[in-house]
Amino acid sequence: MEITGGCLCKAVRYRVSAVPIVTRVCWCRLCQYVGAGSATVNTCFPSSAIEVAGELSDYRSVADSGNVMHRRFCPLCGTHLFSEAEVRPHLTFIRSGTLDDREIAKPATTIWTSQAPTWACIDATIPRLAGQAPPAA
Ligand SMILES: [Zn+2]
Ligand SMILES: [Zn+2]
Repeated sequence: MEITGGCLCKAVRYRVSAVPIVTRVCWCRLCQYVGAGSATVNTCFPSSAIEVAGELSDYRSVADSGNVMHRRFCPLCGTHLFSEAEVRPHLTFIRSGTLDDREIAKPATTIWTSQAPTWACIDATIPRLAGQAPPAA
C-alpha cells in the first residue's frame, strides 16, 4: 500500500509505505490554532515508512499532555503536515487533510474534548476522551 500527500502549494510532497495505525480528531488548544478554530484530524504512521520531499519548518512546543512536540509545516504556504512527540519518534501523525486520499483517515476517537468550545461539533458515534489518548503504538 502506498499513500501519498502534500501541502497546499505542492512544495512539500510525501509518500508512506505503511498502512495507517489510527486516526484521531484532536481538540487540544494548539490544534484549534492549527485547525483555524476547529479540531485537527491526524493519522498515525510509523515514522520510518514516511519519505518527504521538500523543505519543512518545525515548531517545537510543550503540549497539554506535557510532551515536547514537533509540528512541521510548509514554510511557503503554511500547511501543517506532520506532528511528532519527542518521546515517541517512531510515530508520526500526518495532518489528514494533506492526504491525497482522505477517505483512509476515518477517525476512531476524539481526544482533548475538555478543551473544545461549547459549539464544537463532536461525533457522538465514536469514543471521546477528555484528554490525551494512550500511545498509538
Ligand atoms: Zn506548501
Ligand atoms: Zn491536538
